Amino acid sequence: MSGLTCRSCGAEVIVAQTSNNKRMPVDRRASPKGNILLVHQPNNIPRAVVIKAEARERYAGKLRLSHFATCPNAAQHRQPKERRHHGDQKETSQTGQA
Ligand SMILES: [Zn+2]
Repeated sequence: MSGLTCRSCGAEVIVAQTSNNKRMPVDRRASPKGNILLVHQPNNIPRAVVIKAEARERYAGKLRLSHFATCPNAAQHRQPKERRHHGDQKETSQTGQA
């Protein structure tokens, strides 16, 4: 089972793999507005396939939304990285310049 519960809102989510091989939580419940089809993979991590608008009718009732889109606490998922100035560590070695 790849079912999980969102830590911030408690919704049931399924962890899927995107085309970039990243993990993405997808709502367990299908949504009429959904655009993501979960495709079974041998490694048991479903692949999240984004279905284009014109093809969504075909998958009615099977499409889900990214939990990032529906989570009321989504802001917590994407905390902006704090930019701390440690001082630029630019290496000034100039290689290969004639
Ligand atoms: Zn959530």
